[in-house]
Amino acid sequence: MKTFLINGTCETSFITWLKNGMKNTFINNGFSLCEQASEDIRLVLNFTEPDICRPFRRKAQATFVVSILEKEGPVTNVFKEAYPYLIRSLSNHLLYINHHEGTTTFFFLTPEQGCYQITYKQDDEEAKLFQKIYDRLEPLASSQLVIDNEFHFDLPETLWNGDNISMQLKHSGKKLDEMDLLPAPFPIDEYLTPRDMRHLHKLYGIGGLSYGNLSARQDENHFWMSASGIDKSNMNTIGQDILYIKGYSSEDNKIEVSVPPEITPKRASVDAIEHWMIYKEHPEVGAIVHIHAWMDGIQATEINYPCGTVELAKTVAQLVRESDNPAQAVIGLKNHGLTITGRSLEDIFERIDGKINRQVPMN
Ligand SMILES: [Zn+2]
Repeated sequence: MKTFLINGTCETSFITWLKNGMKNTFINNGFSLCEQASEDIRLVLNFTEPDICRPFRRKAQATFVVSILEKEGPVTNVFKEAYPYLIRSLSNHLLYINHHEGTTTFFFLTPEQGCYQITYKQDDEEAKLFQKIYDRLEPLASSQLVIDNEFHFDLPETLWNGDNISMQLKHSGKKLDEMDLLPAPFPIDEYLTPRDMRHLHKLYGIGGLSYGNLSARQDENHFWMSASGIDKSNMNTIGQDILYIKGYSSEDNKIEVSVPPEITPKRASVDAIEHWMIYKEHPEVGAIVHIHAWMDGIQATEINYPCGTVELAKTVAQLVRESDNPAQAVIGLKNHGLTITGRSLEDIFERIDGKINRQVPMN
């Protein structure tokens, strides 16, 4: 059952109109409206205002929160202006609405720093607008996150300090930094209280947004991968910076990580599920790099599913499968970045050298 909840007290005439339109469109498309927050709520439409923008506290990780707020006047840098609200409200998505010179622009912002927009003028058909908003939000709200980990303190002693593959991963992280492909993480702690940071960490394992990740195959069933939220230009400790991924348990929906004994492990990157699917299907893939950048003339996903969802992983895996050479594929993730496969990390860096656009197209 697809359920949703409407939260927030904001009642400008525009917001009231929008709230009703969105409510009816979701109901007409098979969602049922709940009156109270519970663990089963799939989607929350959280209508908020700049001055009172506070976290919506989910009861469950699977609840997808879209915060919605409006602003009058010109927008110069939507990202700079609106992204803090996404963080402050602990949302999965932000719908930032701007009224300026007779046009209303709906900016959709993602935690991965994606941003795309649709515009609306007074005489435009409103049913079409609401359907467009629905079509953008529904796939996101219906996707399933795989971000839980199961740690096994059973890493063979010979790997406690890594091996030559984990060493290559460390060097590749440095190289990405030299290529200026590791943007500084958003200073999330400047916008959230320690309590909200803990909440975010508990729900999503996010400790400071840091983008991109990389992995390299160790053997048939294992690969090394950068951990979540760490400085990828300086990866050292096995079990914290670099993780040994040994599987995915579909039963309890967890990534299985093998770590040295007595370490306090860091979580696997949210994209571990995607890398796992690709390695499992393509024995000739030896390494995978994911960056928030773009290349010309590539195949790309059509829906921008959130990072760390089964749906994103499956879509990317499918495009890898359909590519001319799955072992050397460059796949675009819409409004987000690239996933690149290679026979080795070296192979990937040789192929992308000089071809990377730092700007991801947004549409
Ligand atoms: Zn990403």
